[in-house]
Amino acid sequence: MNFPYAEPFKIKTIENVKRSTMEQRKQWIEEAHYNLFNLKSEQVFIDLLTDSGTGSMSDNQWAEIMKGDEAYAGSKSFELLKSTVQRITGFKYMIPTHQGRAAENVLFSALVKEGDIVPGNAHFDTTKAHIEFRKSKAIDCTIDEAANTDVFHPFKGNIDLNKLEDVFKKYPKEKIPMVIMTITCNTAGGQPVSMKNIRETGALCKKYGIPLYFDGARFAENAYFIHKREDAYRHAKIKEIVKEMFSYGDGMTMSAKKDGLVNMGGFIATNSEDAYNKATVFAILFEGFITYGGMSGRDMGALAVGLDEATELDYLESRVQQVHYLGRKLMAENVPVQQPIGGHAIYLDANKFVPTIPKEQFRAQSLAIELYIIGGIRGVEIGTILADRDPETGKNRYPDLELVRLAIPRRTYSDNHMNYVAAVLEHVYNTRHEARTGYEIIYEPPILRHFTVKLRKI
Ligand SMILES: *Cc1c(COP(=O)(O)O)cnc(C)c1O
Repeated sequence: MNFPYAEPFKIKTIENVKRSTMEQRKQWIEEAHYNLFNLKSEQVFIDLLTDSGTGSMSDNQWAEIMKGDEAYAGSKSFELLKSTVQRITGFKYMIPTHQGRAAENVLFSALVKEGDIVPGNAHFDTTKAHIEFRKSKAIDCTIDEAANTDVFHPFKGNIDLNKLEDVFKKYPKEKIPMVIMTITCNTAGGQPVSMKNIRETGALCKKYGIPLYFDGARFAENAYFIHKREDAYRHAKIKEIVKEMFSYGDGMTMSAKKDGLVNMGGFIATNSEDAYNKATVFAILFEGFITYGGMSGRDMGALAVGLDEATELDYLESRVQQVHYLGRKLMAENVPVQQPIGGHAIYLDANKFVPTIPKEQFRAQSLAIELYIIGGIRGVEIGTILADRDPETGKNRYPDLELVRLAIPRRTYSDNHMNYVAAVLEHVYNTRHEARTGYEIIYEPPILRHFTVKLRKI
């Protein structure tokens, strides 16, 4: 029997959201300098800006919040989190941090220095910024298929081992403090990395004596794709897959706001005593004592429960299937989306959506603004604004892909919300030949400009 899939949970509490008119939204986005980060949440009907920290917690997580132990040192909640991270990831040492970029800051302060090279698969923006901030360089070794939205490849987050080995051969070992593998690969479109690729990358790193660290923000979703798409793992439990994935590396940074199923939090985990010892110094300096690192006890407790819930097949099935439900609806109407659909978001191919706008006028950003004005939907640009300027030349970097990401929060919206989003997108796509507005920058900060950039209509 093949019945439709249904969520393995029901709703216990709700949050009202506000509707608005197109006239209101036109005014609000102008006041926000055409930067969607500047909108108030009340001005948004369906908020797909990010799946980071925007999910819903379970009753068991809320119960753990009540049990939080707020002792400065050695709290029970820390012990619970530590033993959960050890059990799920297999890594021996764990340092909590207040979110993922804080984990990057602490770990890179310990391991990355000026002039270093950090290869990986399309580093996430904060990861890249933390590398470049230290005057070192991130080298993208993702497989070429990742850049073509029409090509179907089951694991578009994979590292190209030849590209990686070329980097290993070109630079002395001392210059490469680590490889960072992002699972799933956010920047490439939430695309997973196969177990085979993780295993082979791990082996190549070992051969050259270079540590492999995971950016594990969506490790559970990555494990789900391995379960679905890699034959040998069809009958494996998600928790077994997760354990094996991490067994090929030396450590990880984690933004718990994703697959930790909490609204704030993160950690570093590693098997290296040396890396752990070095990192604790910076953890204490930047985050707090090593048994809380920027998190309250109750939040560590909720994270521990969240990690267990996020690594259950039933949950992952409903989470990823909802993203794919929206994706399938869009593809049925020929709306250009990146394929295959990733784990946490739909990526609209703005080059095909608004071909009339020159790339210098920020195509993807202009599409994101259009979706907001027409439907009250907030997505985010993953294109030229996010790619920022080349640190050496100061000129815009034009990425191959101009995307708008619609990230789906975990356990938060219904499929009816997805139907609404699909209807708005179909409308915007079907009217793509009408005149569209391009934009120019009137203010930008030195790095991570997308958060605070100000634009004006051309
Ligand atoms: C969100 C994210 C980060 C940064 O984490 P924050 O919690 O937002 O600081 C790093 N890497 C990836 C892949 C992410 O998705």
